[in-house]
Formats: sequence, C-alpha cells, structure tokens
Amino acid sequence: MTVPFEPASETLQAAHQWFAWFHRHPELALHEFETTRKIIEVLQNYSIDLLPNPLQTGVFARIGGYRPGPKIALRADIDALPINEVTGLPYASEAPGRMHACGHDFHLTNLLATAIELKKIERELEGTVLLIFQPAEEAEHGGEQVVDTGILNGVEAIFGLHVKPELPTGVVGIRSGNFSAAVDRIYVTFHGKGTHAAHPDSGRDVIVASGEFIVSAQSIVSRNIDPFEPSVVSLTRIESGTTWNVLPDTALLEGTVRSFHKKVRDKVKQRLQEIVSGIAAVHGISGELRWVDGAPAVVNDERLTKLVERVAKNQGIKVTDVAPSMGGEDFSCYQQVIPGVIFNIGVGCPYPVHNSKFKADLRALEASVPLFVSLVHSYFEGSASDGQTLLS
Ligand SMILES: [Zn+2]
Ligand SMILES: [Zn+2]
Repeated sequence: MTVPFEPASETLQAAHQWFAWFHRHPELALHEFETTRKIIEVLQNYSIDLLPNPLQTGVFARIGGYRPGPKIALRADIDALPINEVTGLPYASEAPGRMHACGHDFHLTNLLATAIELKKIERELEGTVLLIFQPAEEAEHGGEQVVDTGILNGVEAIFGLHVKPELPTGVVGIRSGNFSAAVDRIYVTFHGKGTHAAHPDSGRDVIVASGEFIVSAQSIVSRNIDPFEPSVVSLTRIESGTTWNVLPDTALLEGTVRSFHKKVRDKVKQRLQEIVSGIAAVHGISGELRWVDGAPAVVNDERLTKLVERVAKNQGIKVTDVAPSMGGEDFSCYQQVIPGVIFNIGVGCPYPVHNSKFKADLRALEASVPLFVSLVHSYFEGSASDGQTLLS
C-alpha cells in the first residue's frame, strides 16, 4: 500500500470505549472469561468469522480468504496482572488487586480496531488474516497452548506488538534478531540433617551450603559464559529454618535464568546442576535442581522486521531501534513454528509496565491501527507480485 492508510474515526472512537471496558475489567491468566465474551461480542457485531477455539479463554477469528493468497496471523495477548491499580483513571480497574498494567488491553483493542478496518475491505484482500486473541501471556504458558491447538497450520508469518511507555506516543520501536530473553525458573532444594544450633557437628548444615550455592551460582555468568552473550542468574527466594537455635534440615531456593541463545541456556543449566551436586557432596547432604522451561527468547525475523519498518515509515510513523530486553514475552512460542516479528509502540508514560500507575496514551492507536492494516496489505501485495521484493 503506497498511500498511507487512515482508519475511520468511528472505529477509533469505538476503540476508546472498548479499551475503557477492558481496562475496567482486568482478568488474570486463564481466567479471561468476561474479556473473551466481550471480544466475541465486538467481533460478532461486525460479522467477523469466529474460528473454533478448544481453549477455555481467548478467541480465534478470520478475515478474508475470498481471493487466493497467503495466510498470516496477527496476535494480541489479553490477560492482566495481580496488581492494585492506583492510576486514578475514570475507567480504572473495578477488580481489586487486578490491573491491566502491561497494556494487554491496548493490544487487544488495537487488534479489534484493525479487524474492523480489515473487515470493510475483506473481499479485496489477497489472502487470509487470522486473528489470535491469546490468553495467559503473563503466566500459565498461553502462547504454547495456542500453538498446541494447531491454529498456525498453513500460516506463513505472524505479527504482534507490545506497548512501551518509555517511547513517545505513536513511535514504533523495533529490532531485528534478539528482542527479549528466554525466561526459565529454577528451584534448588538441599536436604541435610537438622540439629541443635549449639551442636552443628551433630547435623548436616543446609544453611552454610545454601550460602555457598548463592555465591557460586553468581560465578556462572561471570566465569562460564561468553561475556558477549547476555545472560542473568537471579536468586529471588530463600526458605529455610524456623528459629534462632535450630539448624534446619532443608533449604529451598528459587530464582530465574535469562538468556538468548540455546547454548547459553544449556550451559547455565549444566553449571547449576554441577554446583548443586558439588556443594551437596562437599557438605554431605543431598541437593536437587529443578529447572522449569519458560518461553524461549523472542528473535525477530529480519525480513519481516524490515517490512514493518518500511510500512511504518510509509505511514509517516517514526521508527526507532530498541535495545534487547532481559524480560520475557511468549510471542516466541509462535516464532518456534513460523517467522514472526513483535515490535513496540510508544504509549508515553513516566511509569513502566507492571507498575500500579502505568497508563497507556490511547492516541497511540492512531499509529498502531493503520500500521497493522497497512502491514497486512503490504504483505499480501508483495506476495502477489514478488515476495522477494516485498520481503528483501
Ligand atoms: Zn507483562
Ligand atoms: Zn505484556
């Protein structure tokens, strides 16, 4: 699409109302029942085809397919966080202890408004657009569950966006390659022998062992990983003992590992295992590492990244590079199956996401909706004429 696309003002006005509703009614991962109901209601009002979804929450829908062409997917996550909102907004959360503090209400509103605009020109679309309203991004592996439904069969590319309060409203932040890190969880348990604190020689001390483990675990990044490969090992919780004069017999430590490349992820896991076993052996106790795989790293497809940059610039949207983040995003689950790109949209706010005062500047929809619509057009037009030109 060479001429910049402008969404109808009624669509943007409606989008503001949907946003206010979603913001008032935040729901946590896998409990997005009212959110799902509302998304379906809006889509049905505009006669958009719903697709079967075997999951309890989330919505799949489809636009186009009247003309031959590729099938692409647009994804928005829909869950909120267990945070008490203190924005003072007129449409602040009505659910105590729950808040759309990561902007997923913006993401899903953006996708609804995009869908409404695409629906108007559905018969002209040279391809099919799949809409994925994904549950449970913040927890509970929603992306993985969606992929497991097989919804991506026949889909050749996927696009997503995430709000970024640090960027001015309506500015696109994008990066090819590493975008956000793999997020894994670790649990370490030491079992020793409890005893009177005055007679440590009668027991097997898990507290001293835990201290050594904490220090040694910090040597993994500094001594075992290539300094040019980003990684983090953070221990975030320690539980052991009940009082001052008893040496406990167990200690539990919990934490997270962040990385981008599989070889780094595997190396950290291997070293943690060796350190737990080694320290346990030194102290004559048993030690166990439980590693829970989270979402892999988001690695943006280079050709799709260039397409977003080009379409955004054609729309008159400012585009800027963003640094990779050690935070996580389960958009990566889709990228394990098909090429995809997720980018940031600025919503200018002094508070970060996951903060109780975070609020998104809705004027960002004036950039994000036309960008999404235009992306679909450009992808289809490029595929119809010469995919290589489009995506080179
Ligand atoms: Zn979040
Ligand atoms: Zn998020």
